Amino acid sequence: MDISGIKDITIINSNFACAGFTSGNEGIWSRNEASDPPTKDYVSLAEKLGIPLTKVIRPYQAGGDKVEIVGSEHGGSGVIKDNELKKVDGLVTAEKGLVLSVIAADCVPLYLIDKKAGVTGILHCGWKSGAGTLVYNAVRKMQELGASPADIKVIIGPHICEECYEVGEEVRNEYANSFTCNELENIFSRRNKRLYLDLSEAIRIKFTAEGIISRNISDARECTFHNKSLYSYRRGDRGKQNLAYIIMKTEK
Ligand SMILES: [Zn+2]
Repeated sequence: MDISGIKDITIINSNFACAGFTSGNEGIWSRNEASDPPTKDYVSLAEKLGIPLTKVIRPYQAGGDKVEIVGSEHGGSGVIKDNELKKVDGLVTAEKGLVLSVIAADCVPLYLIDKKAGVTGILHCGWKSGAGTLVYNAVRKMQELGASPADIKVIIGPHICEECYEVGEEVRNEYANSFTCNELENIFSRRNKRLYLDLSEAIRIKFTAEGIISRNISDARECTFHNKSLYSYRRGDRGKQNLAYIIMKTEK
């Protein structure tokens, strides 16, 4: 099968897990009706990964703070069948061989790994979640599965960068509720009287506050707005998204 049109960024490829960020051929990962067949992009991805769609999970995202623990009983949810993962922006699991996925086009995908505990997760973080409790909830859910903040590694995936992400004053006001003045100085910058948000910096601060060690937080340093081979809402893509996914490998 020809999958040459897919723009793929490898985020992780280790013995423990593999994770990626892909635009797909069409950038379509969500179905109009729950009864619709899986999108062509999901079919191509599953073939490429060599994993059946019954192992792939996608929540119905809402730009909120909810994180759910998932297992094989959720397999195929949002991909080949309807599911209960509504208004959910984060998934964590202790099960190997499941593909946890979220869609994003400028928002931040976050890949979470605790190798020692055997726990992985994926989050979709928009500006509201960045000021909210998404990170807090994700760490709690990972802890429920046996993870420890000191062992959790975070990879900040491709998203709109601080040079491109102009926001309004209302965004800064929202962040002022959950960050100190010093932190706000690092999260926001002004150029030519315009205000810009560094969402990855806000996310780093949130994870550090939950006990994640700074050197365990890395950044793919790829901007969806700058890189025209990726879909960007701000650049005008509508109804087309990139997919972020993570899989804990099964023992060979
Ligand atoms: Zn950029």
